[in-house]
Amino acid sequence: MNNLILMLKEVASNIHWSWNKDAVELFNEINPDFWNWSGHNPVKLFNEINQNYLEFIIEKKNLGSRVLSLYAEYKNYLKKDTYFDKKYFKTESPIIAYFSAEYGLTECLKTYSGGLGVLSGDHMKSSSDLGLPLIGIGLAYQYGYFTQVINREGWQTENYELNEFNHLPISLLRDENYIPVKVSVNLPGRTVWLQVWTVKVGRVNLYLMDTFIAENSVDDRRITDILYGGDEEKRMMQEIILGIGGIRLIEKLGLDIKAFHLNEGHSAFLCFERIKNYMKKFNVPYSEAKKKCYYSNIFTTHTPVPAGIDIFTKDLFVKYFRSYAEKELGMSVDELFYEGDLNKGDNNNHKFNMAYLAINNSNFINGVSKLHGEVSRKMWELPKSRTQIDHITNGVHTASYVSSYTSNLLRKYFTDNWLYEEDIWKRFPEITDDEIWTLRLLNKFKLVNFCRERIKEKWIFLGADKVKLNEADSILNPETLTIGFARRFATYKRGTLIFRDIDRLKKIVKNNSMPVQFIFSGKAHPKDEGGKNLISEIISYTRDNDLKNKVVFLDNYDINVARHLVEGCDIWLNNPRRPQEASGTSGMKVIANGGLNLSILDGWWDEAYNPENGWKIESVMDDSVSQENKDKLEAMSLYDTLENEIIPLYYLRNSKGVPEEWIKKIKSSVKNLAGFFSTQRMVKDYCDKFYMKVK
Ligand SMILES: *Cc1c(COP(=O)(O)O)cnc(C)c1O
Repeated sequence: MNNLILMLKEVASNIHWSWNKDAVELFNEINPDFWNWSGHNPVKLFNEINQNYLEFIIEKKNLGSRVLSLYAEYKNYLKKDTYFDKKYFKTESPIIAYFSAEYGLTECLKTYSGGLGVLSGDHMKSSSDLGLPLIGIGLAYQYGYFTQVINREGWQTENYELNEFNHLPISLLRDENYIPVKVSVNLPGRTVWLQVWTVKVGRVNLYLMDTFIAENSVDDRRITDILYGGDEEKRMMQEIILGIGGIRLIEKLGLDIKAFHLNEGHSAFLCFERIKNYMKKFNVPYSEAKKKCYYSNIFTTHTPVPAGIDIFTKDLFVKYFRSYAEKELGMSVDELFYEGDLNKGDNNNHKFNMAYLAINNSNFINGVSKLHGEVSRKMWELPKSRTQIDHITNGVHTASYVSSYTSNLLRKYFTDNWLYEEDIWKRFPEITDDEIWTLRLLNKFKLVNFCRERIKEKWIFLGADKVKLNEADSILNPETLTIGFARRFATYKRGTLIFRDIDRLKKIVKNNSMPVQFIFSGKAHPKDEGGKNLISEIISYTRDNDLKNKVVFLDNYDINVARHLVEGCDIWLNNPRRPQEASGTSGMKVIANGGLNLSILDGWWDEAYNPENGWKIESVMDDSVSQENKDKLEAMSLYDTLENEIIPLYYLRNSKGVPEEWIKKIKSSVKNLAGFFSTQRMVKDYCDKFYMKVK
């Protein structure tokens, strides 16, 4: 086969391409229709495309030299010196293992549902960029999370699409004899086997396990079919596989892991398995092994509300852990149960709490923003004698969310390697106002076109006629102030707050001299009727004559939709009930693209906000005020800020039509926030504060 094609295939096999704009542009250029058809999956693209045709295209479009330089860049990325090498030491073998129930890396790999997964994915990417000796461990869901389709009635419906592992940038893990690596866990009355997939995330290996193999019963093959699907018992089985199976995989690979990072409590059963291994290896009792393992576990919590925590009934715990407790740990299952019992045996309200298990077994614990650290310290008052709950504020993997226009501008002014240069953000104000304004318009044009295409496709799907389809070109306006709101539709995030005073909102939207438009997107959990109701309410507003084509909803919020939105929106809106948003990360993604934030002072924005950077929505701190009234008052503050500050500023133009004051805000926002609220900074923090402090 043609060498260039082999090179392309090699580049496609490592999802480093997902944060390399040159790679994505090249895949697209080969054939934009095929690229879209593949679901932005170059492995599928290069597997399915006719090889002669591919050679022909490379020749005809003269892409040869670009393939060569892409390949060289990729090879260089894998071997160059890194932050970790320079700061700590060089090592070939991983010493940090990161556990998470979901990973959001790129749109074709549907192993995530939302923010937690995207954060784990960004953690992998930055670990690779910084050269951390780290592996990720998770589950390979057959169907992943659902694809959202809003039906004619405006109601969310869920489709489950098969992940075609053979056509994804993922490969079955095999030993030196080419035999698939397998590990097992024991479930009541049987052994369940797991196969393992490797996702190459730059330098980092992410291992995903699943039960879909012949060794298992038909029922057991379905344990890992859906993310957050099924009942409590299925979740128990998935979490045993993630935690216990994950540790067995590490043993099987013979890795000498020093630090174990539990991203949320789903993987906390790993604590038991580590203790068990230590007891066997050193022939010591449970309590001593527990003390030892404690120092190398790191637990990151993501929920500030007790109701959000993963719990199991005692019956279920006993069913799954009796034999493990008695045979492996030499104790009664009741004793083991106390590891995750919030009430420490004080009453009969027995629940096994995964966060408590993780807390009990981790020296390092952190919340994901400064405020969330405080809230967590109040929620779980830990004994004074132990390490207290700290915080490391979340970030985003900036290179994954910038548009190619943004990336090109950063290259032009600074360096091709802008991702690795923390200082460039401080120099961002050197860029001229005109160029920043052009960037904003380009990013927004791209977003508006994306929305038009998506919505047109949707109308065709719903059987719209020609007249209706012609209307698609009048959806949104790239010159108009554009506000984005996209996230999970959980009730605390208040997706419909902006509609509270509908007449006031209509006035804002319909003002001809200073118009405003809104783009919404987001999924509700299949079992969350409350969340689904919010979506249906928004859909009905998008069909209102005064708002249609100015307030739009994009189906199936995923990484692709998210990227377009954070590239193009002028304002990113976030209005959760404080302090329920532990961090929130989507608002961080708009920064480098020149978007600005308007948010409740919750999560990350509580520490990021200052009047130069963006806007706040006043939140009512007085707990004696009813939720209903809080919503009302906070909505008022939202309207006031829009009407009095944001809209006039956006439309205040100089003689060339450029909003200088607005651009001043963009410059401050990028300068002050882009470097800090990135996973480059976040992963360095995890490294300095936790990973490299492990005893
Ligand atoms: C960033 C992101 C999220 C998280 O957004 P929040 O602001 O934390 O709610 C969720 N889903 C997708 C697809 C994302 O890209």
